[in-house]
Amino acid sequence: VETSKLNQVVEIRGTKPGPTSLVLGGVHGDETCGVEAITALRDSLKINRGRVLLAYGNPRAIQAGTRFSQANLNRMFKPDAALSADERASYEYARAQELKPYFAQADAALDVHASFTPNSRPFVICEPQAREVAGQLPVDLVVSGFDQVQPGGTDYYMNQLGKVGICLECGYLGDQATNKIARDGILAFLQARRHIQDAKTSARQQTKIRVFFQYMTKTSNFILAKRFKDFEQVKQGQLIGQDGSQAVVAPRSSAIIFARNRKLAGEEAFLLAAS
Ligand SMILES: [Zn+2]
Repeated sequence: VETSKLNQVVEIRGTKPGPTSLVLGGVHGDETCGVEAITALRDSLKINRGRVLLAYGNPRAIQAGTRFSQANLNRMFKPDAALSADERASYEYARAQELKPYFAQADAALDVHASFTPNSRPFVICEPQAREVAGQLPVDLVVSGFDQVQPGGTDYYMNQLGKVGICLECGYLGDQATNKIARDGILAFLQARRHIQDAKTSARQQTKIRVFFQYMTKTSNFILAKRFKDFEQVKQGQLIGQDGSQAVVAPRSSAIIFARNRKLAGEEAFLLAAS
């Protein structure tokens, strides 16, 4: 996709009045399922009601095939005072400011992601006010609590505006199955929002858990004790990793998410969630 197209937000209109929804892919540039879904829908999506805005999150990172270029775009939606000078000087901060007016136009936003953890599973991140819409997405697991533990994402920003913010995690970013989850998930979202009526969806039984803890590294050498799958159960006191000379253990029995080795202090190393 050309740079000019990556920067452009496309608007699709229905013939009948209705709500406005925003769909984003590629907020992390190496999560290609959302990028491919947005590309396909920009050419093909037809809706009955309202307006749908289709946006690529991070054009520079999409072109480079990287998660981000200078800062994590999905942490740039915090208030300015909560961002560092380096973060405010980043490309991603500027991109967040470009995108904010589109969030302001929309009543609900769906942001499509994939996990860097192999064998991850599809799940949704949202807060309770989004559960009616999230309940129609093709996932079995709904995770809340991110706004407190890891603020600054697109869903956080929508929630701050008093709107519906949903993040759809489609599975492992290296897995081709994520493409179908992304596309089905977007269509289910558009149906739940009553823009279209032809997607095959129905309310699902979903497990609901809540993130309660994020570990931030204290040294420039954080190494996991093992490779953890997303949502693998850890027991209270179980060794999760070594941060410099310090052993890091689970504060309580819970499910671990997004665990990774880190080479800088002050970085996100893993999350814990429980029912
Ligand atoms: Zn992502």
